[in-house]
Amino acid sequence: MDLLDELRGIVGDGGVLTGDDLATRAGDWLGLSTCQAKAVIRPRSTAELSAVMQLCHAARQPVIGTGGLTGLVHGTDAAGHELQISFERMRSVISVDPVGRTMLVEAGAPLQAVHEAAAAHGLLYPVDLGARGSCTIGGNISTNAGGNTVVRYGMTRDNVLGLEAVLANGTVICALNTLLKNNAAYDLKQLFIGSEGTLGLVTRAVLKLHPLPASEGTAIVALDSFDALLRFFAHCGRRLGGLLSSFEVMWQDHYELIGVNSGRHNPPLPAGHAFYAIVEATGTDPDRDAALFAEVLGEALEQDLASDAVIAASKAQRAAIWGIREDIEGLFLAVLPGCTFDVSLPIAAMDQYVKALTAAARTEWGADTRVVVFGHLGDGNLHILVAPRPWSEDLRRRVEALVYEPLRALNGSISAEHGIGLEKRDWLDVSRTPAEIALMRTLKAALDPLGLLNPRKVLA
Ligand SMILES: Cc1cc2nc3c(=O)[nH]c(=O)nc-3n(C[C@H](O)[C@H](O)[C@H](O)COP(=O)(O)OP(=O)(O)OC[C@H]3O[C@@H](n4cnc5c(N)ncnc54)[C@H](O)[C@@H]3O)c2cc1C
Repeated sequence: MDLLDELRGIVGDGGVLTGDDLATRAGDWLGLSTCQAKAVIRPRSTAELSAVMQLCHAARQPVIGTGGLTGLVHGTDAAGHELQISFERMRSVISVDPVGRTMLVEAGAPLQAVHEAAAAHGLLYPVDLGARGSCTIGGNISTNAGGNTVVRYGMTRDNVLGLEAVLANGTVICALNTLLKNNAAYDLKQLFIGSEGTLGLVTRAVLKLHPLPASEGTAIVALDSFDALLRFFAHCGRRLGGLLSSFEVMWQDHYELIGVNSGRHNPPLPAGHAFYAIVEATGTDPDRDAALFAEVLGEALEQDLASDAVIAASKAQRAAIWGIREDIEGLFLAVLPGCTFDVSLPIAAMDQYVKALTAAARTEWGADTRVVVFGHLGDGNLHILVAPRPWSEDLRRRVEALVYEPLRALNGSISAEHGIGLEKRDWLDVSRTPAEIALMRTLKAALDPLGLLNPRKVLA
């Protein structure tokens, strides 16, 4: 029997999509491409996925796990002989334990649904990113997603207590730990967090929850030098302490392009400042926290750290401020074609790094080369778009070299939060030593000796 017919026997007719169903199925989050896989397999449970993988293993059939397709490094790209495993029929929030502050979810649960389910119990799942409506917990775990609150709550890795995964040969590793402390030998869940579906397919997870904050202060702040920005960040850390939950920064070009000139937003602050920071603080005492937040921003203005500031007075104003920062679609439409980057480096080195990159790119491709910078500055993470005009794919390697090579001396990372996928695979040695890469290969060979899980991704 044909493998797809055998798979239909496990997941049902609706669980195997082929032909016309794929022709109209998006291959990426913007719908710019269509699905190129041989078929999409949609299991309804861990047991079904285990049976699917046993068959695929026997047939040496490569598979690629997919969530919301919002990944930005071509981690879900499929060739015509590969199968995609979709978790769209495994989207449940299974249970919430309000006492232990944990949640059990299926891998296909959208991040926003997880936020809503936690909030219904007065709790918070703190990992938050602009793709929240589409990305899934399985995708977040597999990429170790960061987002807007890492400065306070850490990355996905810090917010997952346990998980369940299916290995390449169908073996189920059920490590649904709910305990905060569990040092019983190796912490196997870490193998699957951030490994981009190359070591196993995540089916369920136990998430760590926090009390839902009762207060939320959000401001956008204009600053006129990098030195002022650094001192403002330190000031916020010192005065807001543990309440500081986000510290995002848009370089001038980014804010003016998207916030002021795109026609897509109502700019809360005028153009013309070197940097625009979004600061957010959340806490447990609305009156006291709001007073402290206003005081901290007032001090920054008095001390000439900040040049201008707007505190959101309503949820709509907060959404308008974040809307500029999170308008990735508007940004891509305005700047691309070109290259997008997600790098980590020491915060103190960022100004020099960006200036040198901009100068090098404009020397090489002319003064109209777009270099747009923004990101989770509080986490040492910048997103950068570089778009020489006219764009040609032949330029990609050279643009990448301008961005990545200087990171070696800075001990920076070619991937802060998006992962490696196909896009950064050939640059891995900038951020990992030969011994680290060799150990990664050993792990891959031990867990997936036939190379069936997300082939070609992460490691060449
Ligand atoms: C507008 C926008 C904003 C973004 N903001 C951020 C941000 O702030 N921080 C951040 O970190 N990222 C951000 N991203 C990137 C992206 O949202 C994250 O990488 C996210 O975690 C991907 O989730 P997904 O469900 O869409 O996964 P997909 O894109 O479907 O897959 C991503 C990777 O995970 C693997 N995978 C997916 N599900 C599974 C599974 N169940 N088991 C095994 N492997 C699996 C895939 O094979 C692939 O390698 C943003 C993207 C967009 C479009």
